[in-house]
Amino acid sequence: MTAQLIDGKFIAQKVQAEVTEQVAAFTQKHGRAPGLHVVLVGDDPASQVYVRNKERTSQQVGMRGAVHRRPATLSQEELLALVAELNRDSNVDGILVQMPLPKHIDAEAVIATIDPDKDVDGLTPENAGLLALGRPGHVPCTPFGCMRLLAEIGCNPEGKRAVVVGRSALVGKPIAQLLLAQNATVTIAHSRTQNLADVCREADILIAAVGKEALVRGDFVKPGAVVIDVGINRGADGKLRGDVEFEAAKRRASWITPVPGGVGPMTIGMLLKNTLAAAERRAR
Ligand code: NAD
Repeated sequence: MTAQLIDGKFIAQKVQAEVTEQVAAFTQKHGRAPGLHVVLVGDDPASQVYVRNKERTSQQVGMRGAVHRRPATLSQEELLALVAELNRDSNVDGILVQMPLPKHIDAEAVIATIDPDKDVDGLTPENAGLLALGRPGHVPCTPFGCMRLLAEIGCNPEGKRAVVVGRSALVGKPIAQLLLAQNATVTIAHSRTQNLADVCREADILIAAVGKEALVRGDFVKPGAVVIDVGINRGADGKLRGDVEFEAAKRRASWITPVPGGVGPMTIGMLLKNTLAAAERRAR
């Protein structure tokens, strides 16, 4: 068996086209475009690339907004004051504080300051709580993107065994909650899990979100499983690879995401969807 590839680039373009249409309709109806504001502290090179992509894509779909660039020396108080100002600004629909923040800043305190209605990254305790309760709120963008990939290939999680490897607040836990909300039977594996191979082999839907190259070996994949690889690891050869041993897994899975070009491209599209939803909610 050779798995079919889940083309995240193509699906992300589809999401972007949807959002572009919806943004145009919103702008016409309300006389203003949805506004996404990104806060970037310091000069982490990867963060700068991510933020530039977010800025460019949000402009392409017709949103307004700004990137608030601040030096790495910014104090915690100054950052909290900036977030509070964006919370108050009625032109701001979505706020995203790019992670990681410099070490002297308490990221959790910053996230908790964001108005949950404007928290388009879905990371505030309120949105995490709503997700845990199965109630509507902003869902973290990468997990939201993974669910869209499943929907696009016609994979309905209901009644399926899903295994999520990784339990971070950003990726693993929210994906598990979303799968549960769609009636999958969900197992969360993590760094203390014993017999990871056996746990993974039970999965009809296998999600890897760890950040360790080839942690999930090809023979961990149940024949016919759908494999979503969230991991991003730069190998010694400079190439990006996921957490799943791709070539071997491809011979057993029915569907699999490549890295790069799978989950990665989805994240910005889902951020824009969250921003549009925030704008619509605020307009109501
Ligand atoms: P994290 O470091 O916060 O969490 C990693 C998780 O993996 C932890 O819950 C830990 O328990 C688990 N883990 C560690 N070692 C393990 C082992 N040996 N066996 C089983 N589980 C183990 O990382 P994160 O923020 O959740 O990100 C995970 C990966 O996803 C990273 O590679 C990251 O770069 C990538 N990522 C990609 C996107 C995207 O595609 N847009 C977005 C976010 C994160």
